[in-house]
Amino acid sequence: MIDRYNTSHLVIVGAGATCASFPSGDYRGRLIPAMNGFLEKTGILDNFPELKDLGAEYPNLEDLYSLLSNEMHHQDLLKRLDLAIREYMASLHCGWQINLYDKLMLSVTSRDYIATFNWDPFLAQSYFYMSYIKSDLPTILFLHGNSAMGYCGECHIVGYLWDVCQNCKHQFTPVPLLYPIKEKNYEQNAYIKNSWDDLKKIINNAFMITFWGYSAPKSDTAALAIMHEAFNNSETKKYKQFEIINIAEESLLKEAYNEFIYKPSRISFVKSFYQSEIANNPRRSCDCLFENTMYCLPSSVVDENENRITIQEEDDLLSIIRKMEQIEGEDVFRDCYKQNPITSKKDLVNRLGSRLKGIMK
Ligand SMILES: [Zn+2]
Repeated sequence: MIDRYNTSHLVIVGAGATCASFPSGDYRGRLIPAMNGFLEKTGILDNFPELKDLGAEYPNLEDLYSLLSNEMHHQDLLKRLDLAIREYMASLHCGWQINLYDKLMLSVTSRDYIATFNWDPFLAQSYFYMSYIKSDLPTILFLHGNSAMGYCGECHIVGYLWDVCQNCKHQFTPVPLLYPIKEKNYEQNAYIKNSWDDLKKIINNAFMITFWGYSAPKSDTAALAIMHEAFNNSETKKYKQFEIINIAEESLLKEAYNEFIYKPSRISFVKSFYQSEIANNPRRSCDCLFENTMYCLPSSVVDENENRITIQEEDDLLSIIRKMEQIEGEDVFRDCYKQNPITSKKDLVNRLGSRLKGIMK
């Protein structure tokens, strides 16, 4: 098996990653709509008769929210809207089938990072379920807040909203959702500011950076400016490898990601998670790249018979667990899993689901 090096992989996920992971919505078929048509498709608009006309005129939540937030007398309305959006998002559940976020979570290690722009709870739920199985989870950053996460202001601890603070045992306060207004303010809230400060350091140090389902739109001025600056200030920028997982046309993506391209050979474009370096060299994406580029070795992840190990569409949870074992041995599994192995994702959800208060009914 290939050596491990002190290198890390940063995966930045946008709305497209959730769409690819949950193409038919959550387990009850509840949709996770894009900003355009958000309030109508979620049914939230039906509970806000005062927004009926304005909602039809401005179907994009970003446009509508920007308009309302410019006027002080809409503060109460915005608060109620925030609660409705948060309740909808928090009610979503990943279900019993293994999804792409689960596969991602099992294919990276504790050296790696996942940062998400999404409000939906799926990445947090995946972390929650997969933490029963493996011990080397990545660090997760919620760049726009998240409907599943809470914060203890006293102890400065972040946790799941369905848990209590492990230190003071008080209920967590929900982390704020950062609304998609044109001028996003990443400094206003301590939790969000910390997430962005961490992201800057991680971009500076990461060897590989994957953007999955994030189109890097020009309207994301503030987010892109922070990420470009962190990249441009990095002393190792010329060694970093970028990978874009996106179904959009490559010419459009090349334009959108132009600022990250130090050398054309340092960026690649693929259409799906299964074509990515993470799925092709699970748990060793950076190590393989390091050996390829630094030692000129054609390294890949193989089993004891020298057969390639990759993550495939047909893989279920148990087949990935077997692959993890071939790559890492027993040490990667948590004691709770070793003592009580599960037989499927359904088994895992049934075992832990009761802790997600009110979600799995
Ligand atoms: Zn606390």
